[in-house]
Amino acid sequence: MKHLYGPVPSRRLGVSLGLDIIPLKVCSLNCVYCQLGTRGVPTLRRRSYFPLAEFFNELEERRPDLPRLDYATFSGSGEPTLNADLAELIKGTRRLLKAPICVITNGTLTPDEAVRADLSLADLIMPSLDAATQPVFEAINRPAAGLLIADVIEGLVALRREFSGKLWLEILLVAGMNDSEAELNALIAATERIAPDTVQLNTVVRPPTESTAEPLSPERLNEIARRFTVPVETLTAYHGAGTKHRSLDLYAEIIAYLGRRPATLTDLATMLGESEETISAHLEKLIVTRRVLPPDSAGGYFRVKE
Ligand code: SF4
Repeated sequence: MKHLYGPVPSRRLGVSLGLDIIPLKVCSLNCVYCQLGTRGVPTLRRRSYFPLAEFFNELEERRPDLPRLDYATFSGSGEPTLNADLAELIKGTRRLLKAPICVITNGTLTPDEAVRADLSLADLIMPSLDAATQPVFEAINRPAAGLLIADVIEGLVALRREFSGKLWLEILLVAGMNDSEAELNALIAATERIAPDTVQLNTVVRPPTESTAEPLSPERLNEIARRFTVPVETLTAYHGAGTKHRSLDLYAEIIAYLGRRPATLTDLATMLGESEETISAHLEKLIVTRRVLPPDSAGGYFRVKE
């Protein structure tokens, strides 16, 4: 398993090195808008996924070439708090990179005190919350069996109380699913209790996994934003749900990925959570501008041009 991607430029995080500590789509949820596909059964079980030395060796190898980082960001292919070694990974990364640490999480494990303690080692936590009532939670996030949104909200309230760093809460709105008056009122009330430094309102922009996941218009998003009593910003310029797992700049992500190892079109589409069509269009431009070599005839692998 490769653990590092980027660094990639991100509007929210500046120059951010991505740290992937979970195998593809190991998650406590199975959101209708997930760009990682619908594979896997949601789980709440934390466990170790790889020897820590494997991760830190990769970090050591890359360290000499890294620019100054605004953040080292734990996110990637699934829910990072499901990695039972999260605390050690955060501490070791901070020691090696001397960069602020961000964790992007779906927040569902925050009812667990031990998870909150791990997360509190970060400088910035970006949890998401798409629903405040159980039926909507189940419809949009399709959680692991037994997971209650009321407990998740209490977990986030406790996290805010215990954590002195920055907390940016992302809410992703899907038309007809979590934008009813009742759900919006419940979400607004939840954010008042959680009291994050900011709420980032987002909607589905890219073609989502499920055809039922439709975006809200920018006007509607802005109208909803005005109803929040905590600081709020809208992220309509972003790529939708993928902001949980990646940055805005797909070109930079492709180059960063290929910089680590050659990959096929299918590999890139899977890893970056985009359709092959979109990746192909981006690759075409990168080939024309001589940043990426055309695929080799043997296996269809793309490489960056040295
Ligand atoms: S969008 Fe994120 S939280 Fe939702 S299922 Fe996909 S990986 Fe999990």
